[in-house]
Amino acid sequence: MHIEIDQDRCCAAGQCVLAADDIFDQRDEDGVVVLLDHVPDDADALARAREAAALCPALAIEVHA
Ligand code: SF4
Repeated sequence: MHIEIDQDRCCAAGQCVLAADDIFDQRDEDGVVVLLDHVPDDADALARAREAAALCPALAIEVHA
């Protein structure tokens, strides 16, 4: 699995962090998403990464299985 984020699209809604705080974080200064783990390696992490992508209102997260 590989995750990509688009910081230019991110509107700092924070849904991704609520879904998977081990994979995503937000910058202190403006709340824009930061990717902590590009390649989560278990099925649970994959499920949470996909949930985060589905919840993101800016469609700023892509999960490639
Ligand atoms: S859910 Fe989307 S818009 Fe919100 S912080 Fe995460 S990547 Fe950015």
